Amino acid sequence: MTDCLFCRMVAGEIPADVVHETDRVLAFRDINPQAPTHVLVIPKEHHPTIGALVGADAGLLGDVVAAAHAVAGQEGLVTGDGAEPGYRLVANTGPQAGQTVHHVHLHVLGGRDLTWPPG
Ligand code: AMP
Ligand code: ZN
Repeated sequence: MTDCLFCRMVAGEIPADVVHETDRVLAFRDINPQAPTHVLVIPKEHHPTIGALVGADAGLLGDVVAAAHAVAGQEGLVTGDGAEPGYRLVANTGPQAGQTVHHVHLHVLGGRDLTWPPG
């Protein structure tokens, strides 16, 4: 039994609003969304940070990024017509970036103006 929140979500011990899944990657909606689309994409295998994942299995990081892009497409943020709204990927790493869950994850954010100052 692990005390990692995201490992427990992968194991089905804690509910997740899953929007995309492969054999190696899981994507689910953030419980405290900061934008109309706010999805977290994680490798199913536990790695604490981007750096740890790059060192252990850079291909898996590629799978996580590909899944994030697929989620953005599902959410209507990638349309391929040149007028797509687009999206932002964020990976908070370490205390100064505010990482609170130490199982590597990408935030997929979109559906509103994310620029600052708003355009
Ligand atoms: P970070 O601050 O980058 O480590 O992001 C952790 C994210 O996990 C935050 O945006 C939280 O809102 C989110 N979160 C925490 N618990 C849950 C949960 N049970 N289901 C979905 N998202 C969660
Ligand atoms: Zn974990």
